[in-house]
Amino acid sequence: MNKGRKLYEGKAKIIYEGPEKGTAIQHFKDDATAFNNLKKSTVEGKGVLNNRISEHILNNLNQVGIKTHLIKRLNMREQLIHLVEVMPVEFIVRNIATGSLTKRLGIADGTVLSRPLIEYSYKNDDFGDPLIAREHILEFKWVKNSEMLDFINLNCLRINDFMQGMFRAVGIKLVDFKLEFGIANIEGKNEILLADEISPDTCRLWDVISEKKLDKDRFRKDLGNIIQAYQEVARRLGIIHEEANISEVKFGKPKAVNLKKK
Ligand code: C5P
Repeated sequence: MNKGRKLYEGKAKIIYEGPEKGTAIQHFKDDATAFNNLKKSTVEGKGVLNNRISEHILNNLNQVGIKTHLIKRLNMREQLIHLVEVMPVEFIVRNIATGSLTKRLGIADGTVLSRPLIEYSYKNDDFGDPLIAREHILEFKWVKNSEMLDFINLNCLRINDFMQGMFRAVGIKLVDFKLEFGIANIEGKNEILLADEISPDTCRLWDVISEKKLDKDRFRKDLGNIIQAYQEVARRLGIIHEEANISEVKFGKPKAVNLKKK
């Protein structure tokens, strides 16, 4: 499928114009960043795995009535999506306290929350994506009105319920994750769609028994084996086969071949 011009390049993805009006192509890169771009690297194969994992989750969400921007996966690194105007708010859903929540409030790492907690941050790198209140979102019209915000909150909780069950069934705890939403005009009607991606880059995923981290914290905390962890998630979800190996294939230096004389 022919890509149009580049519309936006983020830290882990590029968005191109799509083949038809109102569509776009989302390309998953191998770049990894953390701490507001202070830490950067390339993780060979990450884009391929995130493309597949996000496709799987968004397709499943579509099937339970949650509207998403995904139309279809095109190839190893690209998806055809509805072009959405993304709201500048990150919706963080937490089931277990860790990460910035524990740093900010001194809550013990691993504390199980009595119910899911939704936090909001303003999507703006210049200010380091600061935590904001519902009132900021409404005052500055980052989400159009309180009904729309209530609808999105409800969707966050539904997505959390669904994903918790999906991961629990394959021995993974869904600790927390980030969602983004946008508005798209589909057949003349404005729709609120789940946008961006859901992958080990945007979720914290712990093995149920060992609590081994199977997500981007392996990169943030220099734990190593990043791609193996992402592959483990894809394998457990049944997206890739047991023996699949997405990591780089290294070929030795070509050697001269001696042809036998006949
Ligand atoms: O860092 P923090 O604890 O606030 O992150 C909460 C969750 O949101 C984590 O799963 C993290 O991967 C995700 N997140 C994200 N993109 C951001 C900030 C957080 O995907 N810009």
